[in-house]
Amino acid sequence: MKIRLFMALLIGKAAVVLSRLAGNQGTDFPGRIARRINPAVLSELAGNIKQGIIIVTGTNGKTTTSNIMAAIIQENGSALVHNQEGANLITGITTAFISAAGLFRRRYFDYAILETDEANIPLLLDEIQPRAVLITNFFRDQLDRFGEPSAAIHMIKDALKNKRDIELILNADDPFLSDFEEQTGNKALFFGFAPADYEGSTGGLDQMGKYCVICGHELDYRLSYYAQLGKYHCPSCNNKNPMADYTAYDLRMTPEIEFKIDEMQIKSPFQGFYNAYNILAAAATARYLGIDDPVIKNAIMKHQPQAGRMEKFIINGQPCLLILVKNPAGFNQVLTMMTREAGPKNLFIVLNDNAADGRDVSWIWDADAEIIASADTGVTEVICAGLRGADMALRVKYAGIKPDNITIVSDLHSGIQRTLAGEGETAYILCTYSALFECQKILSRMQEQMLAAPPEYQRSKAGSN
Ligand SMILES: [Zn+2]
Repeated sequence: MKIRLFMALLIGKAAVVLSRLAGNQGTDFPGRIARRINPAVLSELAGNIKQGIIIVTGTNGKTTTSNIMAAIIQENGSALVHNQEGANLITGITTAFISAAGLFRRRYFDYAILETDEANIPLLLDEIQPRAVLITNFFRDQLDRFGEPSAAIHMIKDALKNKRDIELILNADDPFLSDFEEQTGNKALFFGFAPADYEGSTGGLDQMGKYCVICGHELDYRLSYYAQLGKYHCPSCNNKNPMADYTAYDLRMTPEIEFKIDEMQIKSPFQGFYNAYNILAAAATARYLGIDDPVIKNAIMKHQPQAGRMEKFIINGQPCLLILVKNPAGFNQVLTMMTREAGPKNLFIVLNDNAADGRDVSWIWDADAEIIASADTGVTEVICAGLRGADMALRVKYAGIKPDNITIVSDLHSGIQRTLAGEGETAYILCTYSALFECQKILSRMQEQMLAAPPEYQRSKAGSN
């Protein structure tokens, strides 16, 4: 082994141990140090991957998709390098390779599954040669409005243009991905759901104002699954869903996910349409890698979702936590967590009873909602929404919040606005599955608008609320 690579590995591995001792899960630091010692450390270690590196990117679902792919590869008995959630910059990816590498003896792996942000793709492609790049989707609202690809999409396309030997694995139902194959010159494989009216999809509410990436004309939707995902057609240039190489049929969400790819019956403990896409993406990639169907099925059936999904946004300086709740245990956990954080809080609870949420909402009476009214949570006002928002409001009232301080709103956007305008310093948005994606979209958009606006505007906006 070359001395510079050895030194980078030695110091890098020591840094991994040190940062673990310091309690840091964040793993950028070892990679950063090692890259300083040997800037080529990542490309040298990438040479240890025998069957292929798969990069997973896109706006939503890359963590879930790459975790399921890793589970399938492990089920297959193959050796794997996989970067963990929260370490998806080039430094974090370098750390993953350093942790896996042998110090005194070269260690080989079958695959690497690398999750990364869109913006990181050009850097990564400079250093490693993946076998395939999987793109889950692009969700950006400004795209919808202007009908042209954002900087992120351009960046990925440009980075892929001169890398003709990379295959693309793309979501056939996302119109933002429809021209990737033509624009980059790379061969693409597509995955998508067979046309059907699925229960749990947004059913045509969400596809308004989506424009063709080729000619800019507004798209016609025959079916809308959620956001811009669905079966589309451009009346002006005839752009439409590419033919899928991996088509999923008979999707059921009861609330757990089941569907078929050819004769392969997939069952997963995950819930929600967005996760059905993640599972399909992982299964399609596994098929592409030549992994046998029984291995794919088993791994997906056994792979459990991570508990306590949570996402943080900062809007107008106010930290805002979006948290998935679906049962008494999870709900209690979140409320208990709130009591441990000091300061007044704004609380918004969205309760739906769509198939993906579970039809029975009586679990709210099993949860310790009384915690909400305790002084420790710092909650004085509760805003409720969702198909069963009134049930939640009643539950909160019985928990001890005065009726005057409980508001039921009819839509998520005004609910979130009202919540953020409350007296608290932090906002907590708790919602069931079928509201999660919509809340996430609204919050991302608000956060982006705040970041894009000049400071004067931000202040006046804050004042006007
Ligand atoms: Zn068009």
